[in-house]
Amino acid sequence: MSVKEKDKEYIAATYARFPIEITGGKGSLAFDNNGKTYIDMGSGIAVNTFGFCDDEWINAVTKQLSKFQHTSNLYYSEPDTVLAEMLCNRTGFKKVFFSNSGAEANECAIKAARKYAASKKRSAYSTVITLKNSFHGRTITTLAATGQEIFHKDFQPLTKGFDYVEANNIEDLKEKLQSNKCAAFMFECIQGEGGVIPLEREFLSAAAEIAEKNDILLIADEIQTGNGRSGSLYSYMNYGITPDIVTTAKGLSGGLPLGATLFGEKTADVLGVGSHGSTFGGNPVCCAAAVNVLSRIDDELLGGVRRKSEYIVKSLTGAKGVKSVSGMGLMLGIETERDVSEVINRCLDNGVLVIKAKNKVRLLPALNIPDDLLKTAVEVIKKACL
Ligand SMILES: *Cc1c(COP(=O)(O)O)cnc(C)c1O
Repeated sequence: MSVKEKDKEYIAATYARFPIEITGGKGSLAFDNNGKTYIDMGSGIAVNTFGFCDDEWINAVTKQLSKFQHTSNLYYSEPDTVLAEMLCNRTGFKKVFFSNSGAEANECAIKAARKYAASKKRSAYSTVITLKNSFHGRTITTLAATGQEIFHKDFQPLTKGFDYVEANNIEDLKEKLQSNKCAAFMFECIQGEGGVIPLEREFLSAAAEIAEKNDILLIADEIQTGNGRSGSLYSYMNYGITPDIVTTAKGLSGGLPLGATLFGEKTADVLGVGSHGSTFGGNPVCCAAAVNVLSRIDDELLGGVRRKSEYIVKSLTGAKGVKSVSGMGLMLGIETERDVSEVINRCLDNGVLVIKAKNKVRLLPALNIPDDLLKTAVEVIKKACL
């Protein structure tokens, strides 16, 4: 049986896969089983921060791997402490909880917000307001947080205590924050799965003001936007607001599963002994990988992200067949005149991997993609839109 046939036979059919089999990669190049090479403009959905098999990253991973691969959280170990210190120093946040995925990082944030509200107000203050068109994960609770009917319909009843606001509608936000007993407002600064749509600055400023006044926590879901992707270390930094809780995952570890929930001043001590946990969370190999990734997301790299972003936006805005370009940093969405799936397939045929977000072509290249590969990829995408 071929890999494709075996996959069809034995893997639960939850994924609509592209018709290629990846067998390797180096940097921003991916190789398939037929010896074809692709420029990877998706990085495994914003995960491979420095592309495939980056030498420095492999060194960090294998060095830790040869010491110990896992201890459980019953014992102290170095890698998670180094990473937590680094995250706190770079953000001003006070404490970190490590998990294994984005959904888990959000679950942890929601638990902490409810516990905080119960201790400060009453347990009735449990509602988490999120945005319509948002995406926060696939567990029953993070599905409830996700403001899209299409994800809800086959899985009722979902976790109670969520209500949804139209993005950038300050009146709607005020209304929902007043009509519910709220613990938190959770948002992506740039909606990713929802179509690569940045929130407006005035909307987030207003949200921060109302939240501050009513002791409602701000939770920034930086799972996709975080770790340099937006051109800043975390995308909230582009908005002049300070969330109470930040969640991240995808690009944090550069290709290994790791989630992190960052707690600010108010929430630093909310989760005490026994209130939350994870067997694999903060795995030393994943943390060593993340230490390497974070230590390389410096001003120079972030400047490069912004410069590459400008190049893509300039090249594609107003190009024939392109209706609009949205997003920030190396998280961009292209609205095309041609059917989006057709554009994506044309890119694939011509050796460029891009992905989809709603009706848009979504670009999430490695943060260090070389300029010449980026240029070639942009030319292929341009042609595919014609
Ligand atoms: C991908 C994503 C998640 C879910 O992350 P998983 O690791 O798949 O659980 C949650 N929120 C946002 C914004 C995401 O992009």
